[in-house]
This record gives sequence, structure tokens and C-alpha cells, in this order.
Amino acid sequence: MGKYIFLGAPGAGKGTQAVAVTKKVGIPQISSGDLFRNAQKQGTELGLLAKSYMEKGMLVPDEVTVRMVLERISAPDCKKGYILDGFPRTLGQAQALDEALAKKNDSIDRVVYIKVSSEELIRRLGGRLICRNCQAPYNLNDSPPKVAGKCDRCGGELYQRADDSEDVVKSRLEIYARETAPLIDYYKGNGKLVEVSGEIGMNNVTKKILAIMNEVDKNSK
Ligand SMILES: [Zn+2]
Repeated sequence: MGKYIFLGAPGAGKGTQAVAVTKKVGIPQISSGDLFRNAQKQGTELGLLAKSYMEKGMLVPDEVTVRMVLERISAPDCKKGYILDGFPRTLGQAQALDEALAKKNDSIDRVVYIKVSSEELIRRLGGRLICRNCQAPYNLNDSPPKVAGKCDRCGGELYQRADDSEDVVKSRLEIYARETAPLIDYYKGNGKLVEVSGEIGMNNVTKKILAIMNEVDKNSK
């Protein structure tokens, strides 16, 4: 099926799309969060190393993160391909990944950039609510609760996480843009980037991405 990276700002629907696409094509979605959690749970050497940085409140160095990714994508379930979701985050990570893959005569097929305007991202992220009791997520824009302020599932009180307040959302998006803009240029430069609008409805975004993957599949045969 091929090797993919999904890029997109917080709220662009990157994770949701990765899950939807994975179900259709049967290649694993590898999110950086899962990667850290798994490596730590299994207590691998890299997992412990990453943990030691996190415990000191330090960023895990790119080199360690890249090694964790390489370890994960060499697993048997990644033979037909994989979707990297949330990695690489920085230009340094992207370059390190490409170099490591090149050593194995391997490379990423496509980088799918799910593009959503910042106004829309602010609207989406600002509409997020979470149940205080069962943590069920809601979004005032597209999945509001049946009764305002109350969880459909358990009746618990809904609240907005501090992370989703407008000021914090804006600064999260600024950080993302600063870190990711060079990545987008990098993948444009090597011809791997494909842009998909994230504002055409969830199912249509999935369809577009599947079409990109089919194209890769055809060309590799
Ligand atoms: Zn609830």
C-alpha cells in the first residue's frame, strides 16, 4: 500500500483520517504518542531512554525519536506500508528519517498534508468540550451534546480544557505553523507533498486520501 506521513495542524483531522484510512487499507497507523507509550510499556532500551528525558521535563532528542520510529516500522505488520501520524514534527526529524530510510534503500511514498485555514481551526478547537466524568469528547460545531452542557453518555458536566481556550489555541497553532512550515517546504521540494483540503467533509477527505494511495499502488506495480 505504501509508506505515508500525514501532516496537519491540531484540529485538521489528521488523526481521525489516519484511523479511517487504516481501517480501509489495513496498514497500521503509527502515532508518536502510541510509539512512546508502547516502547515504555515494553520497557525497551529506547523506551527507557525516552522516559529518562521526559521525566526530567526535557524534550526527547530527535535521534532517539527517529530510532523508535525505525524500530516500529521494521515490525512485520509494517511490511505492506504504514501511516506516520504526528511524526516527523520538525525538519531535523524529517531529514533524519529520510537518511535512515535511504540507508535501507527505502523511502516515504507520499506526504499527505491536510490543509485547514486557521480561522476554521480556531473554530473547531474552540468548540471542543469534554465530559468531566467519563472524558467523552464533544464539539459544539459538529457533534454537540443533546442537552447543552451535559454528557449524552453519563449526564456528567461538560467543560472546556484550558488547552482549548482561544488564546491557548492560537499559540498552539502558531507553534505548529513555525515548526511545520519548514517541513512542508522540505517535502514540496522533494516532490512528495500532496495537499488535501480538510474542509470538504470528513468522508470526502478520506476518499481523496484513498485515491492518492491507489495512485501510489498502481505506480508501484
Ligand atoms: Zn460523560
